[in-house]
Formats: sequence, structure tokens, C-alpha cells
Amino acid sequence: MDGKTGFSRRSFVGRVGVALGALGLRPDFDLFAQTRGQQAAGAAPRARMTESEYDSLAKLANNENPYGPPESVMKAMTDAFKYANRYGYPDGGIVQAIADHHGVKPDNIIIGAGSSEILTMSDSAFLYGGKKVVSVEPTYATIYQYATNTKSDAIKLALRKDYGQDIPAFIHAVKDNYRDVGLVYLCNPNNPTGVVVTKQEVKQLLDGIPEDVVVLIDEAYHHFIDDPNYETSVPHVIAGRQVVVARTFSKIVGLAGMRLGYAVAPKELINRMKPFSQSYSVNAIVKHGGVAALKDTASQAKVKQLNIELRTKTTHDLQSLGYDVIPSQTNFFMVHVGRDVVPVADEFKKRGVLVGRPFPPMNEHLRVSVGTADEMNRFMTAFKEIFPAKGKTTTAG
Ligand code: PLP
Repeated sequence: MDGKTGFSRRSFVGRVGVALGALGLRPDFDLFAQTRGQQAAGAAPRARMTESEYDSLAKLANNENPYGPPESVMKAMTDAFKYANRYGYPDGGIVQAIADHHGVKPDNIIIGAGSSEILTMSDSAFLYGGKKVVSVEPTYATIYQYATNTKSDAIKLALRKDYGQDIPAFIHAVKDNYRDVGLVYLCNPNNPTGVVVTKQEVKQLLDGIPEDVVVLIDEAYHHFIDDPNYETSVPHVIAGRQVVVARTFSKIVGLAGMRLGYAVAPKELINRMKPFSQSYSVNAIVKHGGVAALKDTASQAKVKQLNIELRTKTTHDLQSLGYDVIPSQTNFFMVHVGRDVVPVADEFKKRGVLVGRPFPPMNEHLRVSVGTADEMNRFMTAFKEIFPAKGKTTTAG
């Protein structure tokens, strides 16, 4: 029980479990997604885990926040439970709060059940009629999966040698296919590499393509970044560019299981997305949690700091064993293990550690999320069992 707020985390979790059950959401949502991926790839379906099996694992496969939402957010959500039986409940002013946070109007905001819903809405709205999406490979592949659902094609560009996104290649691809392109997707920083697109590069892209091409900039990991060359792309929205910025409460705030994300975009683009939003997809409880989260910048700073410390330490440990790590600005990183990551991930799983999946064509890079200190120790112990030490590398962390 928290002495100041007089509410207990356990009682909240109990009630959330009931509510999520009622909403048809599962605590093992991401595992389920992974299993679906494996089934699609032709692998035999895996048995579902029990809660205690799941709880005992070091969960480093889905870039989640291992600490969970801060107390301020838990309290706001607990207080909002009294609206669980209502449709017309006060929603805490979530849209206005997001608009104020970014210095835009409520007309410039649309919320969704996670930023995943923002990505689906964007695909449906902007790829309608078989238009193409332009992006890189690998990136957050959901954008391509949704594009397939809308029967659209993708133009997938290779990453640069340093794993950055090749802006001149984006510009060429858009210009060469101008009539067919409905959407450019820029994941910044990119998942799975953790590499940022600098503010100068974003400007170069926007200045280099026709003004009417819509660019979706996915800033899911915005809050973890420390690189002064990065900047949010919200100012481009305010300047009237055809830019949709996607954000999520899943990562820095730790609300992945509660589902809240949003887009900041010009009113005209928001209006094109609206018909594709699912009614009532965002629940009463998380709306109140989101409003509280926007105010609690101190706990976000703490999560960011812990993440940087543990990422830096693990990176150095891996490098001292002789393994290259791609310098990351996010709550995950990629280590070059030099063999197919599918059997490697199985080896980790046998040791109670869940880590990445294949991100073609980077099939020998293992993506590892930054968990708690204990989870990172478990990861390193397993890593040393699975891989031989090679001697120091020179790559910077
Ligand atoms: N965008 C990126 C780059 C992600 O990595 C993720 C999830 O991992 C999402 C969007 C979707 O997150 P959510 O729907 O939980 O907001």
C-alpha cells in the first residue's frame, strides 16, 4: 500500500485483470503475437504459457517497460475504475491534454488503442486504392502487415552500412513512384536497430519529396533518446507539412497492456484517418492514466536514466566478450551473434530469457530489450553459456 495515496498496486492489478479479461485483452498479448508470427512462418503452434511460467521469465523480447506504470498513473487509473460500467463517462480531457502537451489544437490529435491503431488507420486512410508505402527493411514491420491487409505494395529500402536510414534513397523512391506512393513510413528511432534519424535528415527528406506526400513518423521510442541531433517531428506538423507523428504510452509510461497511443497531424489528415478508428477502442481507465502520465515527467526521466545505465552496462559487457552491438538510443539494442537468431532465441528461452526474433535481412543480429538489472544479469549469464568469449571489440557503445 502506498502511504500517501492509500491505494495498493495489488488491488489495482486484480481489478485490471478483470477489466482486461472483459475487454478481450490478454496479459500475454505480445507472446500471442509472436506465436502468430511463428505460425505464419510455418512453425508448429506453441502451447500457451501459464501465468506463473510467464511471470518467471526475463521478458526481453518486446521492448516493454519492465517497471510498469508509475504510482501517479496507477492511482488515476484506479480512481477511474468507477466508470467501468459507463459509455458517457468523463474522459479526463485526454485529447485536450495531449494537444496542450504539444502546443496544438484538439483537431490535430486522434487517439487509438496503442499507436498500432494509429498505424492501421494511416494504412487504411493513405494506402486506400492500392497506393504504396515506402520505408526501410528492417523496420517496425507492422506497417507492412497492415499494408498487406489493404492490398497495398511496399517499396522496401536497404539500410545504410551504419544501419541508419538512407534519406536520399527515400527521396529517389518517392520521386520515381510519385503517382503510386500513398505513404512514407519513417520509424524514428528505428525498431529494431535503435538508430535515430537526425533532425537535419528529417528536414532533408521533407524538403526533398513533393509536399503532398504523407509521411508517418513513428516516435514510439522518443522519450529514451539522448542524442542532441534528434528532434521530434511535431514542429513539422505545426508548420503545416503532411506529417503524421505517432506516439505511444506503451513504452516510457509502461502501459502496453492498457493500449493508448495517438497521432499529431494537420486537421485534414486527422479527418482522413477518423473513419478508420474503431469506436470505443480506448477504455475509460487508460484515458485517465494517460492524462496523469503526461504530468509525471519525473518518473519518465527516471525510467530513461535507468534504461541508459543498464543498456550501457550490458553493451560494454557484450563488447568485452568480443561481440559488436549497434549503438542504440532506445530501450533495446541489437548484438551481432553471427548465427541465425531463431535457434539462439530458443536457447535463451530454455534458460528462462525471452529475446528477439528474426528481422530479415539482419538474421544474425539478436534484438534484446533493456529490462531490469536482474533481467539483464540473467541475460548475460545465459549469453555466456550460449556463446564463447571472443576478445574485445572496438565498436563504441
Ligand atoms: N511503433 C513501434 C516502432 C513499435 O516498436 C511498437 C511496439 O513495439 C508500436 C509502434 C506499437 O506499440 P503500441 O501499439 O503498443 O503503441
